[in-house]
Amino acid sequence: MDVLLALLIALVTAVTASVPPVRGNEGVPIEVADRSDPVAGLPRILGDPARPLVVLDAGHGGHDPGATSPFGARREKDVTLAIATAIRDALAASGRVRVAMTREDDRYLILKDRYEIARKMRAALFISIHADAAPSNDGARGATIYTLSEVASDREAALLAEQQNQSDRIAGASLSGETGVDRILIDLAQRESMTVSAEFAALLKREASPYFPFRPEYHRFASLVVLKAPDVPSILFETGYLTNATDTAYIASAEGRRQIALGMKSAIETHFARKLVRVAAR
Ligand SMILES: [Zn+2]
Repeated sequence: MDVLLALLIALVTAVTASVPPVRGNEGVPIEVADRSDPVAGLPRILGDPARPLVVLDAGHGGHDPGATSPFGARREKDVTLAIATAIRDALAASGRVRVAMTREDDRYLILKDRYEIARKMRAALFISIHADAAPSNDGARGATIYTLSEVASDREAALLAEQQNQSDRIAGASLSGETGVDRILIDLAQRESMTVSAEFAALLKREASPYFPFRPEYHRFASLVVLKAPDVPSILFETGYLTNATDTAYIASAEGRRQIALGMKSAIETHFARKLVRVAAR
């Protein structure tokens, strides 16, 4: 934590003593006023209360099917739920982290509620699961990891953000946030979360590459609403392409889900083991 952040926290703690505490990435309490609407009924958590919490978000759901594959008419909302469930089960069986899902059935959640669930549960990592589509290029295949940036890494990333964020505009959610000192604190926490998110993206590529293919440019940046929790490191994981026959056969199969869960489990457990080593070294 740098000196500027420490000073700002001291200042804001003094002037806003009544707001609830929010834990920073490194366990430092950061006071951020919570003016969002409460999320009714938080999901169940599996695992030992002493372990860090990972929140898995199965993309789309309910009236929002996401992309539909020309191969077997697979819907993204079903594929993402099955994959998220497989990852949850692998993590729960291993027991090294706690795990929860934003949805466990076919329901619609706006993007802001997805990350607010992670924030309210004090998640240490948020992973939104999706499946890609490139209708004009059925040769495109492989996984991609997105992390938050106001500047998209390319036109494709910008287009993805526009399409995904549309779902919140339709639902009428406010995307505007706090102002003044709250805004500064949130920006600082967000900057730290973005660094941890990028580290996790590199780790996921390394740990999961033996299990499934990534695109050559595997890490992309976009202004995705679902990644905007300021105090929870977050990634959006595109598992593969529903417009590619090979990818669809893989990501929509039990064996594909098993492999994805193994790669994700390895990355998540290594991520938190590293954090423990860093804390112990202080
Ligand atoms: Zn999607």
